Amino acid sequence: MRKDDCIFCKIANGEIPSKTLYEDDTFRVILDLGPAAKGHALLIPKEHAANLYELPDETAGKVLVLAKKMAVQMTDALKCDGFNLVQNNGEVAGQTVHHFHLHLIPRYADDGQAINWVPGNPTQDELEAVRKQIVE
Ligand code: 5GP
Ligand code: ZN
Repeated sequence: MRKDDCIFCKIANGEIPSKTLYEDDTFRVILDLGPAAKGHALLIPKEHAANLYELPDETAGKVLVLAKKMAVQMTDALKCDGFNLVQNNGEVAGQTVHHFHLHLIPRYADDGQAINWVPGNPTQDELEAVRKQIVE
C-alpha cells in the first residue's frame, strides 16, 4: 500500500529525491535532514505502515538485519565511537512522521547529544505487578 499524502512513501519510492545510502526492493536508507549526529540515517520500508504495530512480520524480520549491515558499514566509514537505534511510535513517543522508520544514529564521543531517559526506581512488587499486567 502507498499513501498519497505520506512524505516517506514518496521518499522511499523515489518520487522525492533523498540522500540515499542503500536501496533494495523493500527498503530505502536515507540521510536524515535534521541529524542528531553526522551520518544520522533513516531506514524506511517502501510499503506504507504507520508504525511498528502495522509493520508486516516479514518486513519487521528484515529490519534488524539491514540495520546491522548499515551500522557496520557506517561505523567503518565514519569512524564513530558508538551507535544508537531509535524507533518512535506515536506522538507521545516522539513520532513526527507516521510512516515506520528506524533511526540509525552514529555516536561520537564529542557529539554533545543525549538520547536518554530518567530512570525510575520501582520496588520488586511494582515490577511484578507490571510483569503480570503484560503477560497475564
Ligand atoms: P520521528 O520523530 O518521526 O521518529 O523522526 C522523523 C525524522 O524524519 C526526523 O529525524 C526528521 O529530521 C526526519 N525528516 C522529516 N522529514 C524529512 C524529509 O523530508 N527528509 C529527510 N531526509 N528526513 C526527514
Ligand atoms: Zn507512507
